[in-house]
Amino acid sequence: MSGHKDIWVVIEHSDGRVKPVSLEAVHAARQLSSKSGGQVKAVYLGSQSGDGVKVVARAGVNQVLLIVDSELDTYTSSRYLAALVGCMGDSPPSAILLPATNHGKELAPALASSLGSGLATDCIGLDYSESSGIKVERPVYAGKALSYMEFLGPVPVIITLRPNAFRSDPIADYKEAPIIEHSPAWTEHSRLLHLKEIVKGGGTLDITEARIVVSGGLGMQGPENFHLLEELAGVLGAAVGASRPVVDNGWRDYSNQVGQTGRTVGPDLYIACGISGAVQHLAGMSSSKCIVAINKDPHAPIFEVADYGIVGDALEILPILTREFKNALRT
Ligand SMILES: Cc1cc2nc3c(=O)[nH]c(=O)nc-3n(C[C@H](O)[C@H](O)[C@H](O)COP(=O)(O)OP(=O)(O)OC[C@H]3O[C@@H](n4cnc5c(N)ncnc54)[C@H](O)[C@@H]3O)c2cc1C
Repeated sequence: MSGHKDIWVVIEHSDGRVKPVSLEAVHAARQLSSKSGGQVKAVYLGSQSGDGVKVVARAGVNQVLLIVDSELDTYTSSRYLAALVGCMGDSPPSAILLPATNHGKELAPALASSLGSGLATDCIGLDYSESSGIKVERPVYAGKALSYMEFLGPVPVIITLRPNAFRSDPIADYKEAPIIEHSPAWTEHSRLLHLKEIVKGGGTLDITEARIVVSGGLGMQGPENFHLLEELAGVLGAAVGASRPVVDNGWRDYSNQVGQTGRTVGPDLYIACGISGAVQHLAGMSSSKCIVAINKDPHAPIFEVADYGIVGDALEILPILTREFKNALRT
């Protein structure tokens, strides 16, 4: 049962392009396998469109399991679940890693339930010891505490990884791994759902996956001023976030909300504009690598966590930042 030590990474892709969060998961799997032994296998579901499969094969994995079927080009949990379980046969891996994205958050519990195995979600650290096997670290109580968990049940254990928590080195030139093709054996159950159409919601960058987030609070004064954040985000390649009252007021969609009752982000750069810095907001962004705050009030609590602070009117400062970044990035 050589498969027992292997670690699988379920690759997320869109239009043939691999999402960076999946390469982070590959990096995490490599680190784990260097302690636990076994091979890292990337599982790519869908037909070979674009260069996604090749990108994964050169990402430092030992093998790519390509489960080929055009029905898998677009994610549906029932198809992905059936294909993954079917491909496992009698040689399951020790762990299956998925990014904690919307898809990963849906598929991971379905996998765990189907396989009767343990599940740890939104992990920010992985470790292994001979005595206790795989251990995970995950934030709890809105990031105020960390929990460390071990698995007791059967393999494979299912683990979702918080985006931006497992960065890989940008310079890596790995040998291309072999690509092994599988055909999914569909069950009656997996055929119960047929995907007809995906209606895209605008194609904006997901705030949990973005490397830069520009967020607005009530200090933005109204929805008509959020174009200032969109413009800065456009120049920086960033996603736009928001505080809860902004969402409650209907200025922005809930998918933009950062905080305890919204999304948790950990980008390289978080720019908080007109946000006071309430604990519930900090719970969703304080793990950002660099925090910049723009606030009229020099005593606003956000400045206590900010690496850089600008005291002033966000509505005046944002256009200046956008112009300056545009100029700086053009050169
Ligand atoms: C159970 C619970 C869960 C919650 N969950 C969340 C959550 O997930 N996310 C979240 O964000 N909140 C959450 N909250 C709400 C949270 O407590 C705060 O009320 C909220 O974060 C405040 O949002 P804000 O900073 O946009 O607004 P405010 O606190 O009103 O702050 C506005 C800030 O803008 C500044 N300002 C005003 N005008 C300007 C200007 N022109 N230029 C620059 N600065 C200006 C002000 O000085 C002020 O600091 C939750 C609360 C509870 C009780």
